[in-house]
Amino acid sequence: MTDFLVRGAAELWTGRRDAMRVRGPVDLRVRAGRIAAIGSLEPEPGERVLDAAGCIVYPAWVNTHHHLFQSLLKGIPEAIDLPLVPWLGAVTVPYRAGFRDEDAFRVAVRVGLVELALSGCGTVADHQYHVYPGMDYDPSAVCFEEAERLGLRFVLCRGGQTLPSADAPPEAVPETLEQFLAGVEHDAARFHDPSPHAMRRVVSAITTPHTSCTSGELREIARHARGLGLRLHSHLSETDDYLRWAREHHGCSPIEFAERHEWLGPDVWYAHMVHLDDDELRRCADTGTGIAHCPQSNARLGSGIARIPEALAAGVPVGLAVDGAASNEACDMLSEAHACWLTHRADPRSGRFAGQPGGHAGAMTVEDVVHVGTAGGARVLGLDGVGTLAVGQGADFAVYDLREPRHFGLHDPAVAPVASGGRTPLKALVVAGRVVVEDDAVPGLDLAGLRDDAARWVRALRR
Ligand SMILES: [Zn+2]
Repeated sequence: MTDFLVRGAAELWTGRRDAMRVRGPVDLRVRAGRIAAIGSLEPEPGERVLDAAGCIVYPAWVNTHHHLFQSLLKGIPEAIDLPLVPWLGAVTVPYRAGFRDEDAFRVAVRVGLVELALSGCGTVADHQYHVYPGMDYDPSAVCFEEAERLGLRFVLCRGGQTLPSADAPPEAVPETLEQFLAGVEHDAARFHDPSPHAMRRVVSAITTPHTSCTSGELREIARHARGLGLRLHSHLSETDDYLRWAREHHGCSPIEFAERHEWLGPDVWYAHMVHLDDDELRRCADTGTGIAHCPQSNARLGSGIARIPEALAAGVPVGLAVDGAASNEACDMLSEAHACWLTHRADPRSGRFAGQPGGHAGAMTVEDVVHVGTAGGARVLGLDGVGTLAVGQGADFAVYDLREPRHFGLHDPAVAPVASGGRTPLKALVVAGRVVVEDDAVPGLDLAGLRDDAARWVRALRR
């Protein structure tokens, strides 16, 4: 089904902050992967109809930062209460050896993508840094294959490192700068589509600016990516460690360091950005540098709360992201959105955005969260053809079915997918006009088989 009419939704949200709600009953027509009309529409002769009575339509979520291979590294007991640096040493470095087998990597990617699809996510940007010289499979191809199989848009942020990590297994041996640049170039040649409705994108994404390569190499990486027309992505200012490092080694803030090395601009976005001072926020706004906001991972690792209401007020591009499953035991966009909605209200610094003296409750509205998680994410990724629902945009939307008891009694049902918490069932997830999820299931997917595959690999990884 690629041409059809979504009929009678109770409400439709556009993703646009200035004009979010279209009150129902509202209909939406899909033609050739795009939105052809929104309004009060009559079915055309022979047109297929998706009955959305009582349902809420949001733009499909845009996940702006992930590490899909970590989908088999959830809840590792020896690391569940550790902060970032010891957690990295306990989880992502040692366990990488387990992913020398393509099947482990593929199962992890599949688990992560299915989990995201079942939350209503249509576009996934994955920071894929499990790359090392002499790998005997092609991880970039696996990611694109799995995303295409499901029908999701996929942005490969090709990570990696040119400096060794402490106590690293052979799977974390660095590439040379030439190997890293050639890898990015090879992936771009095979997979990158610059169009605003692209199903496949490639981004140059060294894993962490200050530990994964030398400062000099950073500038070369930026120039190389821009020469290929690729965006830049990395981690920044997740913890105080980044601040200390920038001050001690370069006598400046992490954002000043990034600017000196040509890593700011409307074609750059960073995951986390928890610890930004006022000058850094202003610099991000002035340069159009974006944030992939990961509230659950930041809370889980005790990293802090990013100043998102202030970033939005300043005009910084902000998208929502789940981060890897090793620091977020479930990676779905609905629990991330719920956490985002609550976290900034609990943050005492949010008071001045509340619109009333002394209160924080208005710091982040449900509309703000939906905007950030959809249109905001699309802007951060430069995918202008998705993230909002309007005529001509990609037909990427989630039709939420408010059929659980948690949704009974709502005076404003349209806020439910974010405000009520839990996973709201999907009547459908549509991406580029294709039905990816139907009646809360992925058609043709052997979910029990996938659970068994994941359990088998968890047993192997623990050995
Ligand atoms: Zn990350």
